[in-house]
Amino acid sequence: MKYYVMTLFPEMVEQGLNTSILKRAAEAGAIEFEAVNIRDYSEDKHKRVDDYPYGGGAGMVLQAEPIYRCYEAVQAKIGKEKKTRMIALSPAGRVFDQSFAEELSAEENLIFLCGHYEGIDERVLERITTDYVSIGDYILTGGELPAMVMIDAVSRLVPGVLSNGESAVKESFSDYLLEYPQYTRPEEILGKKVPEILLSGHHANIEKWRREKSLELTKEKRPDLYEKYLAIHTKL
Ligand code: SAM
Repeated sequence: MKYYVMTLFPEMVEQGLNTSILKRAAEAGAIEFEAVNIRDYSEDKHKRVDDYPYGGGAGMVLQAEPIYRCYEAVQAKIGKEKKTRMIALSPAGRVFDQSFAEELSAEENLIFLCGHYEGIDERVLERITTDYVSIGDYILTGGELPAMVMIDAVSRLVPGVLSNGESAVKESFSDYLLEYPQYTRPEEILGKKVPEILLSGHHANIEKWRREKSLELTKEKRPDLYEKYLAIHTKL
């Protein structure tokens, strides 16, 4: 999987992604990232990429032209014949979740466009965007953090990114359930003991306990997810 991130702040994206598990995965060749500076595609002598909004109002808007040229350069690198999803980060987009991450993890390449200031000229968005994506109902200063959030979540599902010990199979949101509580050594700490069942070595009982805890937690903390879980499982 290769990610291309079109941004005004490539160093932010590179630094954010080049750490921990994603860095290791990139070194192993399971994923690749390239932060592409939109400013490099400005023909303005001061490398300006923004201008005042038509109709007035506060803030600046990113211009269509440098973004379109940047996109063309990225698409040329990928190969014109390869239809690639172009994700515009936007508070008005489809809200990102685990099933969307799973869908995107099947792609060979992904392009992200990070907005800034008041946003992006609508005309270039209409021309190049395949998906508008939001990471939640709040406004951030730019699309870089949302792009990194998405790349992190998608990469964990790309084969070869997680080692065996970091399995992504049974985690919160798989099957609409939150994960059961986890414990590690020592057996007793802060006046609390590890639940007996986890020390029993009885795998079937441990599985049963974990399932029950997942159901309990989801019902208590995320009743909205629990409803989805019930809807799917009562249909079967
Ligand atoms: N004026 C815009 C509005 O009211 O919707 C907000 C622009 S925001 C300050 C600048 C950029 O940050 C956006 O173009 C988008 O790329 C990114 N952004 C901000 N919040 C986001 C969110 N919740 N999800 C995805 N991207 C977001």
